[in-house]
Amino acid sequence: MKPIDIKSLINYVALKILGGSDYLLDALEEYLVNGEGPAIVAHKYNISKHQLRGYAQRIIEKSGSELRAKKVIPILKEISKDVKPIVVRDENGVYTCSVCYTVIAKEDAEEHVRKYHKDVLTLTIARMEEKLNEIRAKKAKPVIFTSAS
Ligand SMILES: [Zn+2]
Repeated sequence: MKPIDIKSLINYVALKILGGSDYLLDALEEYLVNGEGPAIVAHKYNISKHQLRGYAQRIIEKSGSELRAKKVIPILKEISKDVKPIVVRDENGVYTCSVCYTVIAKEDAEEHVRKYHKDVLTLTIARMEEKLNEIRAKKAKPVIFTSAS
């Protein structure tokens, strides 16, 4: 089995949240961990079933298996709970970057963050890694992040 790519998972989640998709882990927890139907979850977060399955697929790939994805989602939630989107959607559905006040299309949000606010992204990733290390240090037996698991 492929080892878990935690760096890539953190990177993916950080970029999604900063880009305004801060519902990502809640949606994935409901769909993958709690086993809610994709139609219900997609509707709740105002995304398509196709998008939801796409997110789940990416997380499963980076985790190495569905079982590991289910274990890693609550941890990703824990380490990203203080991360706030920098691209925000107003009541008219307009997406604006709260750092440079540029109006952007939703589909360009992540690219915008990666391209123009790499410093914020880098800092966010570093903080998430730091929190992960704190969690690891607290656990007597780190089960899921070792390459042998
Ligand atoms: Zn910006």
